[in-house]
Amino acid sequence: MNIFPTDFVEILKKIDLVDPVKYASTRNFKNGNVSRLSPYISRGVISTRFIYDRLVEKGLNLKKCEKFIQELAWRDFWQQIWVNKVDLINKDLKRPQEDFIDKKIVKSVVDGTTKINSVDKEIKNLYEFGYMHNHMRMYVASIATNISKSHWKTPAKWMYYHLLDGDWASNSLSWQWVAGSNSNKKYYANQDNVNKYFNDDQKGTFLDKSYEEIINMDIPKVLDEKINFENKTNLPEIKKLEIDNNLPTLIYNYYNIDPNWRIDGKANRILLLEPEIFSKYPVSKKCIQFALKLSDNIDEIQFFSGSFEQLKKEYNISEFIFKEHPLNSHYIGTMDNRDWLCKIEGDYLSFFKYWNKIKKKLI
Ligand SMILES: Cc1cc2nc3c(=O)[nH]c(=O)nc-3n(C[C@H](O)[C@H](O)[C@H](O)COP(=O)(O)OP(=O)(O)OC[C@H]3O[C@@H](n4cnc5c(N)ncnc54)[C@H](O)[C@@H]3O)c2cc1C
Repeated sequence: MNIFPTDFVEILKKIDLVDPVKYASTRNFKNGNVSRLSPYISRGVISTRFIYDRLVEKGLNLKKCEKFIQELAWRDFWQQIWVNKVDLINKDLKRPQEDFIDKKIVKSVVDGTTKINSVDKEIKNLYEFGYMHNHMRMYVASIATNISKSHWKTPAKWMYYHLLDGDWASNSLSWQWVAGSNSNKKYYANQDNVNKYFNDDQKGTFLDKSYEEIINMDIPKVLDEKINFENKTNLPEIKKLEIDNNLPTLIYNYYNIDPNWRIDGKANRILLLEPEIFSKYPVSKKCIQFALKLSDNIDEIQFFSGSFEQLKKEYNISEFIFKEHPLNSHYIGTMDNRDWLCKIEGDYLSFFKYWNKIKKKLI
C-alpha cells in the first residue's frame, strides 16, 4: 500500500481530497480526517501557503476551516522558532525537563512491545509507512519521556529517524512540549484516552489508571530496560555531475524539494545531501529514498552527496541560489525566501499571539 505517492500530480490530488471542515471534530481519532500532507510539507515540496491558497480557490476560507489552518500555522510556528533560536532548539527550550534519570530510550518503545496494543501497532506502522498519527506521537512521547523518566532528545531522534515527515523543529519542539521543557506541564494520557481515540478496549495495562496514579507511579517493569539510540544515514554514492558554468546552480536539499521553485529559469539543479547534516540529524534509508523519489518531479535534477564546499570546489561553481532554512547558514549565494502561511515578525514564544496575528492577515 503506497499511502505517500511521490508524483506531483498525485500530491496535488491528495491536497484536494482533504476535508478541512470535518477535520476539526475528527482529527484526534485514529481514522479521523487528517490530511497526511506532512511528508510533502516537511520535504518542502509544497508549503503551508500553497495549501491555503488551494483551499481558498475551492471556496473555503478561514472561518470554514479554522482548525486545519491553525495546524498549518503550528508547523510554521515551530519552523520560525528554529530560525530564531537556531541550535537552542536542541536543548531544553523554556525550562529544564524535570525528573528525568537518563538520556536513553526505552527498549520496548523501540521494539513496539510496550504491551499497550494500539501503541505497539502504531510503532510497527511507523517502521513500515514512515508516518504516525499526531495523537499517537503524543502518547508515544509521553511514555518514552514522562512515564519512563528519560530525557526527550534521544527518543525524539529515534522518531525523527523514521518519519518521512521528519522536521526537526516540529519534532524536537513537540517532544519538548510533551516533556514539559517547552510547555507549562508534562503531557500524560491514560488507557481510556488511548482506547477512545484509537478504537480499542484494552484493560489492565500500566496506563489503565487514574491520572494521579500515572503521574506518581514508579517506572513500569515493561519500560525498565533503556538503550542508546545511535543510528546513521547511508547516502547513495556520488555520480559525476554535468554542470554548465554559464548557468546558476540551484541547490535543493532534504528540506527543499519544491518542483515549482524557479521553474522557468535555466539552471543547474542539484539535490545536495550533506553527510554532516545527516550525522547530526540521521534519517532512515526509507526517508532518503522518499526524498530522492520526490526530486524526480524536478526536471534534470542531479544528486550530490557531499558538502556544499566540496560541490563548489569540485565543479568550480560561482553562482549558487538556495532557499532560506536554518540548516543552510553555511551556503553562499543568493538566498530566496521561503513561503509561509503569513510572514510574521517578532518573538515567537507564544503560539496564540502568533496565530492571532496570522488570523488578522488571513481574514
Ligand atoms: C512527539 C511529536 C513529534 C512530531 N514530529 C513531527 C515531525 O517530525 N514533522 C512534522 O511535520 N510534524 C511533527 N509533529 C506534528 C504532527 O504530529 C504532524 O505534523 C502531523 O501528525 C502530520 O500529519 P498530517 O499531515 O496528517 O497532519 P494534519 O492533522 O492533517 O495537519 C495538516 C498539517 O498541519 C501541520 N501540523 C498538524 N499538526 C501539527 C502539530 N502538532 N505541530 C506542527 N505542525 C502540525 C503539519 O504540517 C500537517 O501536515 C510531531 C508531533 C508530536 C506530538
